[in-house]
Amino acid sequence: MKTHHQRTALITGANKGIGKEIARQLAQRGFAVFIGARDMAKGREASEELCQAGYEVTCIHLDVTDPVSIRTACGTFSQKADHLDVLVNNAGVLEDHGEDILNLNTEMLDRTLKANVTGPILVIQDFLEHLQKSKSGARIINVSSGAGALNDMTTYAPAYSISKTALNAVTRQFAGALRGENIAVNCVDPGWVRTDMGGSNASRPVEKGAETIVWLATEAPQSETGKFWHDKKEVD
Ligand code: NDP
Repeated sequence: MKTHHQRTALITGANKGIGKEIARQLAQRGFAVFIGARDMAKGREASEELCQAGYEVTCIHLDVTDPVSIRTACGTFSQKADHLDVLVNNAGVLEDHGEDILNLNTEMLDRTLKANVTGPILVIQDFLEHLQKSKSGARIINVSSGAGALNDMTTYAPAYSISKTALNAVTRQFAGALRGENIAVNCVDPGWVRTDMGGSNASRPVEKGAETIVWLATEAPQSETGKFWHDKKEVD
């Protein structure tokens, strides 16, 4: 059965970490949630766990580095829902291993850009037709990082930092292009979060990491667009 009236959300890379927590919080608020996962076994495990908790969650195969996978995911989505209200580009990779820009492995940089920058661009392009059918005004949130802030750029993880700075630029580009279409586009630094990527020493639980993203998806004024957020405040 197709979802007509309920608000819908798609979160990429939502089989674990911050993405899974965003899925949980949006489902808790009544959204029909679609979890994107590049590994269906992991994706199904996450969606089944959330369904058992009483939420409406569906898993869709979506590898953000594979244009065919994104297109196919878009077709699968259209069989299950007739509109998309919230798209969270959460999937991301951090492959840097301590080398600085002087020794940067540019093949690794290319892989990082493909996942963290080209992927979100393709996902937005392909899902735009569904976002344009949102009745409440659609919202796109790109999960960036403090490492992407130009005003606080360190030499840490150059490939990852460059990719997140680029993602912030992508956010501004789409916000400008979609102004007038009632589609808000923002990016978020979730802080240092305890996940496989953030590690066990990180200061924040996933609940806190998801907070500003969920706020932008649900409560922030629709007029807020093209901005970079941390803890519900705009940052440079
Ligand atoms: P995790 O490593 O826990 O989760 C990353 C998710 O992205 C996984 O579901 C992973 O899938 C998925 N993913 C990776 N590559 C692809 C791909 N090609 N296609 C689809 N999914 C993919 O990381 P976090 O939850 O910590 O990170 C979520 C987002 O938050 C990322 O964009 C990250 O850069 C950002 N962030 C995280 C911070 C932190 O401290 N944790 C700080 C700042 C930003 P799989 O399980 O198959 O690997």
